[in-house]
Amino acid sequence: MPKVKIDVDACISCGVCASMCPDVFVMDPETGKSSVVENFRVGGNKAEGEIPADLVDCARTAADNCPATAITVEE
Ligand code: SF4
Repeated sequence: MPKVKIDVDACISCGVCASMCPDVFVMDPETGKSSVVENFRVGGNKAEGEIPADLVDCARTAADNCPATAITVEE
C-alpha cells in the first residue's frame, strides 16, 4: 500500500495539502500542523499513513505544492 509521511517539524501550517487533497490530509486542531486523515493512519500516528492507490496522485500533488517539502509519498 502506498505510504505517506509528514515531517511535522518542517510543516509551516499553511493548509495547502489539506485544501488540495482533503481525502488524505487534515489540519490537526491540536497542533495546527498537517496530519493524515484518521482512517489512513498507521498505529494512530498522525504523521504517517497508508493510502489507497487511487489517492496517490492527489497526495503527490499536495506534496509537490507543499512550500516546506514536508510530505513524502512512497509507492
Ligand atoms: S502543505 Fe506542507 S507546510 Fe503546508 S500544511 Fe501541508 S505539510 Fe504543512
